[in-house]
Amino acid sequence: LRRKSKDIQKLTQGILNGNKTDLSQAITLIESQSKRHTEDIKTVISTCLPYSNKSLRIGITGVPGVGKSTFIEQLGLLLVNQGHKVAVLAVDPSSSVTRGSILGDKTRMEKLVQHPQAYIRPTASGESLGGVARKTRESILLCEAAGFDILLIETVGVGQSETAVHSMTDFFLLLKLAGAGDELQGIKRGIIEMADAIVINKADGENIQAAKKAKVEFNRALHMYPSKSNGWTPKVKLASALKNEGIENTWNMLSDYFTKVKSNGFFKEKRSSQNKFWLTQTIEDSLKKEFYQNENIKAEFPEVLEKIHSQELSPFEAADYLLNKAKS
Ligand code: GDP
Repeated sequence: LRRKSKDIQKLTQGILNGNKTDLSQAITLIESQSKRHTEDIKTVISTCLPYSNKSLRIGITGVPGVGKSTFIEQLGLLLVNQGHKVAVLAVDPSSSVTRGSILGDKTRMEKLVQHPQAYIRPTASGESLGGVARKTRESILLCEAAGFDILLIETVGVGQSETAVHSMTDFFLLLKLAGAGDELQGIKRGIIEMADAIVINKADGENIQAAKKAKVEFNRALHMYPSKSNGWTPKVKLASALKNEGIENTWNMLSDYFTKVKSNGFFKEKRSSQNKFWLTQTIEDSLKKEFYQNENIKAEFPEVLEKIHSQELSPFEAADYLLNKAKS
């Protein structure tokens, strides 16, 4: 049922007071498919918006098993102990396929989840990437309004989810394993190019030598790309999330990055271009959806397609025809 506007006000106030239960409830509304909830959450988001945008948004990606949750827990604990408020969100459109979310799972970050200054939200499942990405972005705004000043946005290395996370974060961190042999894949898929840093995890025990070697190789791979417009050279670091080694070092690197891009204006510039991207993307998605759901289009589409097959119409002429049809 639609909540009364008084309830919505209370919910919004709760978020602004940093109440995690209210934050969770609001994110549940964001994730809901119901139209009523969509209306309710619009009010919440617009009230929270002026209080958002203040956090550092860090994207973290890597294949399952690389140590994402172990790493995020250690980094998160380091940060909350420094007085930060840390929220962990996840983007994983595949979780409905792989059954159950493998990201943002609270049982994977047991210590962090218990910390009063931490908030962990498991993935919204059963959705398209576009849907999950939008919901995560809206959740980011609410987390920020609730006072979380560091957001860790986790994703697995599948499909286009890295690109989505890259487009909603200030820093993109790629977790890797030494000798996993997927370096070339990462280069091919453009993941390495997106990375602001590569952290080679599990650099412990017998792995240390291989990790050091991988560091050299990844440094070489990163140098194949032209330098970034933000004046930042992507770094390669070693870590052992399990032994809590290299985490503080990684954080120092992140701090350096933020100091640099905040002083040279790139931080703001990147956020602006991301906002513009999400604006145009949302418009395009919505126009597309409207077009294909149009009754005229649905009725004529098969026939037009048939005419293209039989070479009565070119695909371009057909598109013009249908686009005009949608307007009528
Ligand atoms: P995720 O799937 O990427 O979230 O990976 P997990 O954090 O769940 O870690 C997968 C496995 O690797 C677990 O058994 C962890 O204990 C182990 N692991 C994580 N980080 C390290 C590390 O730095 N060194 C070692 N040796 N094992 C690790």
